Amino acid sequence: MSALLDLLGDTLGPGGIQTGADVEARRRGDGNGPHGVLPDCVLRPRTTEEVASVLATCDRLGQRVVVQGGLTGFAGGARPLAGEVVLSLERMRGVAPPDPASATILAEAGAPLEAVQQAAGSAGLLLGVDIGARGSCTIGGNVATNAGGIRVLRYGMFRDQVAGLEVVLADGSVLSSLSGLRKDNAGYDLKQLFIGSEGTLGVVTRARLRLHPKPAGEVLAFVAASGIAAVLDLLARLRAALGASLSAYEMIGGTLYQAVALEGALRMPLAAGAPLYLIVEVTGAEPARDRGRLEAVLGAAADEGRVGDAVLAESARDIADIWRLREALGRYTLKLAKVQGFDIAIGLDRIAAFMEKTGRAVAAVSPAARVLVFGHLGDGNLHYLVDDDDPAIAKAVYGCVAEAGGSIAAEHGVGLDKKPYLSYSRSAAEINAMRRLKAAFDPKGILNRGRIFDLSGDP
Ligand code: ZN
Repeated sequence: MSALLDLLGDTLGPGGIQTGADVEARRRGDGNGPHGVLPDCVLRPRTTEEVASVLATCDRLGQRVVVQGGLTGFAGGARPLAGEVVLSLERMRGVAPPDPASATILAEAGAPLEAVQQAAGSAGLLLGVDIGARGSCTIGGNVATNAGGIRVLRYGMFRDQVAGLEVVLADGSVLSSLSGLRKDNAGYDLKQLFIGSEGTLGVVTRARLRLHPKPAGEVLAFVAASGIAAVLDLLARLRAALGASLSAYEMIGGTLYQAVALEGALRMPLAAGAPLYLIVEVTGAEPARDRGRLEAVLGAAADEGRVGDAVLAESARDIADIWRLREALGRYTLKLAKVQGFDIAIGLDRIAAFMEKTGRAVAAVSPAARVLVFGHLGDGNLHYLVDDDDPAIAKAVYGCVAEAGGSIAAEHGVGLDKKPYLSYSRSAAEINAMRRLKAAFDPKGILNRGRIFDLSGDP
């Protein structure tokens, strides 16, 4: 460690290295999961060149590194392990003005998502990804985890926003595709490898992100539904009527809705008691027409008894209240003492059978456990929570995910916490191919080692 500090002290300058009592307690984890060790040292470069120097030096010394962004993850990817130094991108927060010609924006890895959203908005443009942690999560972490959120249905995941990347490899070499060409098939599209690879293949330092025209207006409905079949039927009807204007289709399980309503802290749009609730967002170029179409679809579904009560937001306050409720769901589940959270994706053709079967499997392990579900139903992504920490529940849920051909990590990543379950979603051949990529980009295994999968020789 002292050799590392000697070599990097001049490079990183004042404030560039924290050690001992200067290392803050928050460095121990990503805020939601269990805490790891307090690192001995935090390296805080200001430029890509400094990141390259840090990694080249660590690589030469065989020093393991864990990369930290906004520390808002849910899978322990940024949680330090013994012997690791922290590489924090927090001093690289720059956001350039959007480029109107290409409709892109260049941001440094440590820039908060919200800062990029605001810069885009001030130019009449929109970044397609929005998540609850927008104020704290950073662009580098968003790229590294391929973040999703509420508008994937319309704009895709973070991968779809990335026009170009600058990445530093473990040996300090810099790969850059920041020109953001729409068409570039001159060999491999290397940037794709780093999106969603959780910092195991390289460290993102800058990203050029695609922006979209800001919609003319937002029409929002809150709907009570009789069950998952009705929810899927309504989704198909809305897609047919609204096409790409359908921008969010969020589901809330009745048990969770009732629990949040009982807390009494929020204005609930509808009475509790329905099996499921939906938030339907339409953002198009013609809000009045969109509203009429949405009302027509909801009316027809209600006439057939598929959906119950529905309300349309009448004001900006109504809209804000519904999204406030949506963001309160995750916070409610995080307060529970023994909760286990699963971030899973299931094909929409299998999701009804999956929900029924998984509910039975959980009840077989723990008859009293509550199943609290919410999520991005339009993407088949469920945040499936159970308020019982029996490890047999994780096996039961992931067993059902595997049987349905689903994913154990839809949008939160694998990190340290989901690693034991990777084989429920990926074949041995796939995991072997991942290990070969890791060996090619980081032969000494210094970068975020042990995240996603173990390397040979790891405990
Ligand atoms: Zn989510």
